[in-house]
Amino acid sequence: MGKVSIHWFRQDLRLSDNPALSHAVKQGAVLPVYILDDEAAGDWKMGGASRVWLHHSLAALKESLGGHLAVFKGSAEHILTDLVAETGAETLTWTRCYEPWRRERDERIKSRFQDMGLDVLSGNGSLLWEPWTIRKGDGGPYRVFTPFYKKGCLAAPPPREPQPAPDISDFAPMPSSSLEVGALELLPTLPWGEEMMQHWTPGEKGADQALDRFFEVGLSDYSEGRDFPARPATSGLSPYLHFGEMSPNQAWCFSGRAGDFMGCEKDAEHFRRELAWREFSYSQLYFHPDLPTVNLNRKYDVFPWQEDTSLLRQWQKGETGIPLVDAGMRQLWQTGHMHNRVRMVVASFLVKNLLIDWRQGQAWFWDTLVDADLANNAAAWQWVAGSGADAAPYFRIFNPATQGERFDPDGDYIRQYVPELSSLPDKWLSKPWEAPEAVLRQAGVSLGKNYPHPIVDLKASRQRALTAYEQVKAHE
Ligand code: FAD
Repeated sequence: MGKVSIHWFRQDLRLSDNPALSHAVKQGAVLPVYILDDEAAGDWKMGGASRVWLHHSLAALKESLGGHLAVFKGSAEHILTDLVAETGAETLTWTRCYEPWRRERDERIKSRFQDMGLDVLSGNGSLLWEPWTIRKGDGGPYRVFTPFYKKGCLAAPPPREPQPAPDISDFAPMPSSSLEVGALELLPTLPWGEEMMQHWTPGEKGADQALDRFFEVGLSDYSEGRDFPARPATSGLSPYLHFGEMSPNQAWCFSGRAGDFMGCEKDAEHFRRELAWREFSYSQLYFHPDLPTVNLNRKYDVFPWQEDTSLLRQWQKGETGIPLVDAGMRQLWQTGHMHNRVRMVVASFLVKNLLIDWRQGQAWFWDTLVDADLANNAAAWQWVAGSGADAAPYFRIFNPATQGERFDPDGDYIRQYVPELSSLPDKWLSKPWEAPEAVLRQAGVSLGKNYPHPIVDLKASRQRALTAYEQVKAHE
């Protein structure tokens, strides 16, 4: 047998624009490998929705590799050691990941195999710029987005142009210990996963289709429409980017070209700016590995969070009696996704109106989002809570009723996910508790019976949040 190289797939479940895979292919016969390493992930083991996505994504990847994907479950370190011994592989490649547990594990694996004389290559394929290359003049990380983007990213060498998929004509024999994807047991026993996946096509082809759809119907309305949850103006690319079924370079470069071609450069630039928010989240996680657990701004450590499992449960189930919040939480449960504007509103409602710790909201999102991403999720929750980088000031509290009126003016989004309110006139849809009794009756709404009374009074809970914030201010 000639030279063998192992490409270890992780968050790069694609063939195109995958420099590490292309390197492996050039060295000899390739053995593509995926390892579900839950133990090393510890507390950050993938959540339920992500596991469902992963199942389908691995199946798609295996198909595009003509069945040549060796799949394993267990310690990546042990499994790779066995595979190198079995195949005599001389090259090991992977695309870099940035979660603290992965960085630690990968460094160990890299030095182990380099010591054994293997050519080990970890390539860039998940971020536009490596986090350590975007720093302030004094060498420290940026804490504010705009200078991060303008002085850091845009002043750095531009992102790599996407590369075509390599032509893989030579595969190494499949190890006999390889499992079927189903043996990873990623699918839940409840039918919930099936319903959720009706909204998605995981895998590289699904990513291409999502990008095409976005260019056709979303991009030219992106700047304005991206805030309106009922408008198809956003890309829906987040799970594909998270699992690496599309590289950020593909999204970045192709949107630039589409923007020029379609004459909507401003929208394309706005879209690229959002991609840069993803880079900013990764920068925060890279420089502050405890971002998912510890307040970036430590003065928030004294914040008087309330423990209330009953309120938390009502929020999770979308039964708060606040229509926009309920619509968002139900969209999350039904589709594994939630519109960004609504994520901000439901998160603000949890940490401000209910005074529940952002880490509890983060945990629910981690389990239920198909795009659950350690960097983006932690950075965004801290941003909403006020403790994060460039955060929304704590005292700026979203009013979810006003947000509903402003960003869902025709009520299409609320009506889709809260059908029990669908006959209410637009005027009352975001605040049914203020509607006259006769209007409610005519719309078939009976508060406390077929739709809840609000679980908190918005005005009083806002005031309570501001009082709680005084404790943080006192520590300034
Ligand atoms: P588009 O508007 O089409 O944006 C394109 C891409 O840019 C997205 O796919 C995403 O990769 C990136 N992006 C957009 N907005 C942001 C942002 N604010 N921060 C970082 N990257 C961004 N995003 C995740 O990918 N995973 C998460 O776990 C996650 N958790 C969040 C939790 C909260 C409380 C909030 C407020 C936001 C969270 N986001 C998260 C960010 C954002 O809501 C999603 O990335 C976005 O809604 C995905 O939809 P899209 O692909 O249609 O976005």
